Amino acid sequence: MKENVFDREDKVIRKARSLLTGGSFQQDGSEDSYRELLAEYEKSVRQSKRLLKMGDRMQLALASLNEELQLREQKYRGIFENAIEGIYYTDAQGVLLEVNTAMACMLGYETTEECLKNTRDVGDIFKTSQAFSQYKIMLHSKQVVKSMHAQLCCADGNTVWAEINAGAIESHATDNRHIAGIVGVIADITERKHMMREMCRLARTDCLTGLWNRGYFVELAAQEIARCKRFSHELSILLVDVDYFKGVNDKYGHDIGDKVLVGVADTLRETLREVDVVARFGGEEFVVMLPDTGLDAAQMAADRLCRAVREQDFSYDRHRAINVTVSIGVTAFEDVQTSLDLLLKRADTAMYAAKHNGRDRVEFCTQCSSR
Ligand code: GH3
Ligand code: MG
Ligand code: MG
Repeated sequence: MKENVFDREDKVIRKARSLLTGGSFQQDGSEDSYRELLAEYEKSVRQSKRLLKMGDRMQLALASLNEELQLREQKYRGIFENAIEGIYYTDAQGVLLEVNTAMACMLGYETTEECLKNTRDVGDIFKTSQAFSQYKIMLHSKQVVKSMHAQLCCADGNTVWAEINAGAIESHATDNRHIAGIVGVIADITERKHMMREMCRLARTDCLTGLWNRGYFVELAAQEIARCKRFSHELSILLVDVDYFKGVNDKYGHDIGDKVLVGVADTLRETLREVDVVARFGGEEFVVMLPDTGLDAAQMAADRLCRAVREQDFSYDRHRAINVTVSIGVTAFEDVQTSLDLLLKRADTAMYAAKHNGRDRVEFCTQCSSR
């Protein structure tokens, strides 16, 4: 409080007091009224001083609150600006109001302003309308979006995979609580997605031939058999075993043996349809699933395979031709009792029959023939 604000009032009070003590009043009762008035005046001045002090204290408190607010604003602005994750803020309708540098950069824009100019609505950044609908449904039902994976559109037409976490900001400014806006955080997980896809592919693939491995074949075949049972589709299985392969290894060495196996795998793949599933079952044995294919068509496909392998030269230098043959067992899905195990057993029986009957040939085994 400034020291001299009440100087004039204090002077007046001092003067009035000295008048009272100086005996300048007549004994007609006016002195008492004067004394009362002075007391009232002194009280008012005291109250004013108190109010002024209170005002000063409030001003100080407000100034420190302001400072605190500014510090907080700076802190959150710092986090917003320097975060590695993209951060955006939209109004309750999804109109983008602010994006940080990381988000602009993730979407391939030079500046945040450029990003906001090109993406008015948060829906504009989603690649598919289904993903945006899913985002909106989560926000409306739970007011939060947790670890949602979606592809986002970039400035150059490419896409990035992002993990989105978002939440509604409620306004408590009035009694009427309402959503003031949405804050979202997006992390670029493109690399992670690619790695996951690659790991999945590796887990399903045979590393020598590049065909599907036995585990994944079983998975695919189980799905296809379930479809056959439900929709009465046809399906056939071929078991393909390279004849006298031990002899190939013995004669040319294991490395050339490997190359021959890759060659056989390629021949199988090239001879069959895109929809057929070819896998390495183990060692020099392959398994093929022919969807929508009955026993007759499967036998024809197996004959074609037998011939293709027989006619192929698997040599890896120009000096000596390497020829191999395969024995193939064929079986087909019959009814709801048919399981994958049963199909594989029958194909195996048929394949051994082909071996027994001279190799380089096709045999089949069905419910009737296996009885
Ligand atoms: P059959 O006509 O009765 O099938 O005779 P086979 O010699 O092909 O059968 P056998 O089961 O006696 O031998 C299979 C051979 O396949 C033995 C094994 O060393 C070889 N083999 C299995 N896996 C691989 C592989 O990944 N690379 C190579 N080079 N050889 C393999
Ligand atoms: Mg063999
Ligand atoms: Mg074998």
